[in-house]
This record gives sequence, structure tokens and C-alpha cells, in this order.
Amino acid sequence: MRRKTPGLVRVLVHSDARQTIATAAERAHPLEAGGLLLGWWDRDAIVVRAAVDVVDPTATGSSWIRREGLAQQALDQAVTELGHPWLGYVGDWHSHPAPCGASEQDRQSIRSASLAYPQPLLLLVHRRGGNVDMHAARRGRLQAVSIETM
Ligand SMILES: [Zn+2]
Repeated sequence: MRRKTPGLVRVLVHSDARQTIATAAERAHPLEAGGLLLGWWDRDAIVVRAAVDVVDPTATGSSWIRREGLAQQALDQAVTELGHPWLGYVGDWHSHPAPCGASEQDRQSIRSASLAYPQPLLLLVHRRGGNVDMHAARRGRLQAVSIETM
């Protein structure tokens, strides 16, 4: 049995999700790309099964904004295509063309978004070069994460 660390959110990221994010980030460079993380919650873990790319027509090198209409379309399409009964929204991702991690504003936005969910939400920031910076927030508070790939 794995010992649980209180408050620590385990995140299991499927290689499909990493690949989608890396490809979208590369295509958008030097602008930011971003989208949704899809998966499910499994007790103390968040499983990220897939990522979808949601285009922000006004993205810049330091900004990507989730366009709700486009995000909903992308979510509906991905759920239909992947056909997984548990699949739903578990967080957001975006890329940083510069080699820096999540900004104060990034952390603030995931904390605010998490207030609407009983379970933790994820923020994944893909940095230039492939490093990933991940944060989780539960009911408005940031939580430590441990990341595993699957
Ligand atoms: Zn950012």
C-alpha cells in the first residue's frame, strides 16, 4: 500500500495528454497555446487522460484566455471522440513561450475556478523545452502535487 501524504494531490498524466500539449505549444510558438485537461478523479488522485487545444484568436506571447464557447465545443467533441464514460473537465493547461513557470495570475485563476468544484482542479503550464509546472487547487486553496506519468 502506498502511504498517503495528507493534502497531497496525486496527478497521473497520460502520455497522450503530454503529446497533445507539446504539439499545440510548438505549433503556437512564439504565442501561447492552451486548452482543457480531461480526465477524472480517483479518490486522492486526478487522472489526466487527454488534453484538448482551444484556440484563443487573441493569444499573445504572454497571454492565452479560455474562450468559453470554443472550450465547450472542444470538450463536447473530445468526449464524443474518446468515448470514455468518466471523462470530464479536470483543469486547464497553457504554454509559456518563455522558460518561466506559472505566474501569480495563473495561480490566482485556478484558485478562483476551484471554488466551483468539490474536487481539486489542475493547472498545467508547459514551458518551452518541455518542462511542466503543475498546480492543483481545492476550494480556493493551492495544494501540493505529485506527478506520475502513465
Ligand atoms: Zn501563464
